[in-house]
Amino acid sequence: MFERFKPTWMLNSIYSLTPADLKRHGIKAILTDLDNTLIAWNQPQANNDQLRNWLAMMKKANISVIVVSNNNHHRLKKFAQPLGTDFVARAMKPFGFGVKKAKKRLNLTDDQLVLVGDQLLTDIAAANCTNIRSILVKPLVASDAWNTKINRLLEKVVRHYLLKHKMLDDEWRNKLNG
Ligand SMILES: [Mg+2]
Repeated sequence: MFERFKPTWMLNSIYSLTPADLKRHGIKAILTDLDNTLIAWNQPQANNDQLRNWLAMMKKANISVIVVSNNNHHRLKKFAQPLGTDFVARAMKPFGFGVKKAKKRLNLTDDQLVLVGDQLLTDIAAANCTNIRSILVKPLVASDAWNTKINRLLEKVVRHYLLKHKMLDDEWRNKLNG
């Protein structure tokens, strides 16, 4: 049962991800989590250059980016609209609803997609249940929203199991291996 929480890769940050890295693995679109993956969970809007530069770099390389988040439409719109980024709100991860919605818009094959997120229990599970590869990233800030805190407790147990069975790296990497 723990197999469903196993990420394909682990990265220290989504901002380490480059078009070259993705193209090497045949990936043409990124489905990304919002809170603690792209911006801190308690930060309302994106006003940082790192994010804007990273999105511009992906756009230039023809790599689509869709934000797929469990958060509400209001927060997603506030974040995505100024950036001109597509999004799916209330994605209901670990279930596949939001990911499937994003897939329909992209019209790519499953092996051309990757999901990036900071939680094994929601993000990585949603990727695995929709048959796409995934990247677990280190949460941007150490704190979490109250509902995420509960997930983090369960995640500790899952993480421990995965590490013990060599299904998880014990270090964060700077680029995709393989
Ligand atoms: Mg998150």
